[in-house]
Amino acid sequence: MEMIFDLRNVSYSYVGRINALKDICFKVNQKEQISIIGSNGSGKSTLLAILDGLIYPTVGEFYAFDNRISEEVFNTIDDNEFRSYFRTRVGLVFQNSDVQLFSPTVFEEIAFGPLQLNLTPEKVKIRVLEVMEMIGITKLKDRSPHTLSGGEKKKVCIATVLASNPDVLLLDEPTAGLDPRTQLWLTELLQELEDAGKTIITATHDLEFVEQISKRAIVMGEDHQIVMDDDVEKVLNNLELLLDSNLIHEHMHIHSKFVHEHLHTHKGKHIHEHDTECDLSSTRIELLLARELE
Ligand code: ADP
Ligand code: MG
Repeated sequence: MEMIFDLRNVSYSYVGRINALKDICFKVNQKEQISIIGSNGSGKSTLLAILDGLIYPTVGEFYAFDNRISEEVFNTIDDNEFRSYFRTRVGLVFQNSDVQLFSPTVFEEIAFGPLQLNLTPEKVKIRVLEVMEMIGITKLKDRSPHTLSGGEKKKVCIATVLASNPDVLLLDEPTAGLDPRTQLWLTELLQELEDAGKTIITATHDLEFVEQISKRAIVMGEDHQIVMDDDVEKVLNNLELLLDSNLIHEHMHIHSKFVHEHLHTHKGKHIHEHDTECDLSSTRIELLLARELE
């Protein structure tokens, strides 16, 4: 099986002094689905920027497809064959959609990537129409991306990345700001992409989502180091670690007739101390009901 990424003792600091990643080591194999979880500021976005070749380790080595990615090999030659190859294989969906969108219409936005691949205009058009159909945004074709809702923008961003058909997808907090229906749509889309054999790495602190879209989870601690890298179930059952990493918090809550202490995630999923199994669908309904009663 092909090795996609290999990070060897990677550290990164902004402007030489703000630590964002510390001594990160892990490998990614083809067709893995991995979640990068950690609280705000733990280094998730920085890690995805390294994996997308946007920035380079301050210390340590990053290999992609058996080639070392460094400023010297990646960014110096204008006509860089490996960089073009890398760009066709890896695509990043940014956390902030507005950073990613710049074209006058949705159609042109999605066509931008395929046009870079030197496809004929006819082939580009076919591909754009196919991707819009797949993502369910055909009716937005002539709209200006900046006038769309948050969920629609996110769909366009995903479409722009899928239009180049990369086999490695990086997603930075893709559920942030999405309504429940769009979140479900995204979960199902990622499951389909998994079935299609994509390698998918998603940064998130939505633990419910993690469970549905990945098999392996890498937990970033607040000191910017990896604190756990294991099967999703093992990570999600390690309540102490999730508490320490600020991914869940303890609080008092009135439940049925009893007042008891239990663990509570940021997304509202309840994990009872004596009952770590929890029915996600009923939690969702509970949340909706709770909201309606407010
Ligand atoms: P996360 O995505 O997990 O919230 P980030 O990778 O964005 O974390 O940030 C990691 C650390 O790097 C934080 O302390 C953050 O303040 C800092 N940081 C992120 N981007 C920049 C930047 N452009 N300049 C300076 N510091 C930054
Ligand atoms: Mg981030």
